[in-house]
Order: sequence, then structure tokens, then C-alpha cells
Amino acid sequence: MDLLEYQGKQLFARHGLRVSQGLPVTTVEDAVTAAAEVGYPVVVKAQVLIGGRGKAGGVKLAADETEVREHAGNILGMDIKGHTVRTLWIEHASDIASEYYASVLLDRSAKKPLVMFSVEGGVDIEEVAEQTPEKLIRRHVDPLAGLSRAEAVEIASDGGVDADVIEGVADALVALYEVWLQEDATLTEINPLIVTPEREVKALDSKVSLDDNALYRHPDNQSLSDSENEDPIERRAKEEGVQYVKLDGDIGILGNGAGLVMSTLDVVAQAGGSPANFLDAGGGSNAEKIEQAVDLLLANHAVKAVLFNIFGGITRCDEVAQGLIAAFEQIKPSVPFVVRLDGTNDVEGRRLLQEAELPNVYAAKTMNEAAEKVVALAAGQSVGAPA
Ligand code: GDP
Ligand code: MN
Repeated sequence: MDLLEYQGKQLFARHGLRVSQGLPVTTVEDAVTAAAEVGYPVVVKAQVLIGGRGKAGGVKLAADETEVREHAGNILGMDIKGHTVRTLWIEHASDIASEYYASVLLDRSAKKPLVMFSVEGGVDIEEVAEQTPEKLIRRHVDPLAGLSRAEAVEIASDGGVDADVIEGVADALVALYEVWLQEDATLTEINPLIVTPEREVKALDSKVSLDDNALYRHPDNQSLSDSENEDPIERRAKEEGVQYVKLDGDIGILGNGAGLVMSTLDVVAQAGGSPANFLDAGGGSNAEKIEQAVDLLLANHAVKAVLFNIFGGITRCDEVAQGLIAAFEQIKPSVPFVVRLDGTNDVEGRRLLQEAELPNVYAAKTMNEAAEKVVALAAGQSVGAPA
């Protein structure tokens, strides 16, 4: 789960990282009130889950009320790389002497946390990594010992920060590591980490990704999800405990088990089709679960045909067939379904489907046959009589 800048900053502040005072708002009037409260000059900042807001015109300095009105009015509703701005963060503006870069992430190949730091901050860090890699310090951390103050001082010093702020930068790095560790983040990043003319070290921006699998350990963080920007079907699936990811195509996919679903996506793509989603009904899918899954699949109106790919193990194919029959009674889908049942009780499952004489349901014996049929059906072609 990715956090908006201001939510990340609130986490930073809880762990002792210095940030500027600010307020989140959603209207121009509230922006004006907030600006008066945090004190001019202010920065008006678009809150969207995408970087490069500055370049896109989503970060503007405002010296007075007229300018706040102008910028807030322009930025609210703005589209930044496909993200609509609904929230602004009004922050007291800082004077900047230097802009640095700092981040903590998990280096999976090294199986260790990685701290990255550069005095070339405020810019695209990928560019620094590519063009002047010597200016990007990369230091692994012993996960058991954590990032010590001495190591943080060394990173700052090796990175070439001004001598008088080595301590301040080291404090920021230790705090950033603490946020990463204690909040179960997968990434904590500050770009830019600034030094003010008064030699204060401060996070001017934040990028924080939290590990969804550890969210249950952080009840306070659960409310931070940007549900307004989340796909409504994905949100519903999450609430219902179903593994569902929306994709861009028009073929609804349902399988049991993530591995089977992934290979189903592959065979559909190979047959020339484009999957509309990833949906894993999970092991032990009972009738009720199947009904729920069909409902979710069809909530996406881009879906023109559905492929049901069930490999019976613990999940019994007859139970899945019953679920499908029940779902059809409830939902009466208007798009064709291709069903492949294989494994435990598959014969019984297919017999049940046949007897139910569901309209628009086509049987397939193999995955490839199923994929070819569903791709043809989605394209509006005929594949013979339903079975
Ligand atoms: P991003 O473009 O999405 O990374 O948004 P940032 O929050 O990093 O802001 C972009 C740039 O705006 C920063 O790199 C700064 O140069 C500038 N900026 C942001 N806040 C302030 C501020 O308080 N004072 C000044 N002078 N510049 C700021
Ligand atoms: Mn930034």
C-alpha cells in the first residue's frame, strides 16, 4: 500500500524526522484557511500516488492568499499521469540550501535492507544512478543489528554532505530506517531531504510503501489506504477476502490457486486474448465463494467472456459446478462462460453442468481448448453449441 506524501510525512514525524507543518485540504476555501494557519509563504502540493508532481505543475509556491487561490484552483482536479488530484497538502514553505536524497528498501537478492543516499537530490534519482553512480551511496544493513548511528554518520560523510550537517543527516537516516523497520514498510524515501540556510535537515517530500501483509500489525495505518483512488471492484474483493487484480483486457479469468490463474493468463494471452483480471478463488472453493467470484468478475463491464479454469484437488469440481449453477440462477450473466473442470470429481461436475443446461456455458477439456474458445467468444465468434 502506497501512502500519499502527507501521510508519509505524518509517519516520519512520529519517528522524529523533521518535516514542515502542513494541512491536507480538498477545497480552495480550505486551502486558504490552511495557508493562513501554517503561515505564508506556503507550498500547494498535489497529493497523488505518483512522482514527478513538481514537473507536472502539481507543486507551487504561494506568497499570499491570491496565489493560494490560483494554485489550489488549478491543481485540484488536475490530471497527473492518470491520477486525478482530489487532495492538496498546504505546507509552510522552506528555504533550501541543499537537496539530498535518502531511501531505505529491501534488497531481496542480498536479503538485507539497503540504505541509499546521495547529495544529488531533488532530481530523478534513476538519472544519478545511471550517469554518476559514484554519487549514489548504497549501504547494506545487518537486519539484526539495524542501522547504527556510526554507520549513518559514515554514509553521510562518504556521501559528501557538508561537515556541519553530517550529524543532522545521520539522525535523519536513522529515523528513516526506524520508520521502514517499525512500520513494516517496503520502501521509505525522501527526495529531497533538504538543508535549510539555518542548517536544519528536513524531509521536504516522502514516498512510503507499506507491506500489505503486515498491515494487521498496524491498526493505525490501515485507515491510510487511498480508497478513493482504488479500483472499486478491487476494494470490494479485498473486503470479501478474494484475490482479485484488475487488468486491462476483456476476458474474465477465474481459477483456483495463484499458479493456475497465472498460467491461465498466459494461455489466454498465447491464444491472442487479453485478460480482464486475475481472480484466485483459492483452495476449497465452495459454492458460495464461486457465486461471489462470478459477481466480482461481471462487475467489470469490460468483460466480454469468462474463462473458468478449475483444477480439482481439495476443491471438488462438483462443488464448483454447483456454485456456478447457483450463481447463474442469481446473476443470469449475459456473457458466455467457458468452463474447464479437471481433477477431483470432474466427471460429476461436468454432468451437473450439462444437466443444468445453463445458457451460454461452453465446456472445454483442456486449458488450450478453453483459451481458444474464450478468445473466440470474446471476439463475438461462434464456437459451436453450448454444453
Ligand atoms: P515531486 O516532484 O513529486 O517529487 O514533489 P516534491 O515534493 O519533491 O517537490 C518538487 C520540488 O519542488 C522539490 O524538489 C523542490 O525543489 C520544490 N519544493 C517543494 N517544496 C518546497 C519548499 O517548501 N520550498 C521551495 N523553495 N521549494 C520547494
Ligand atoms: Mn520529490
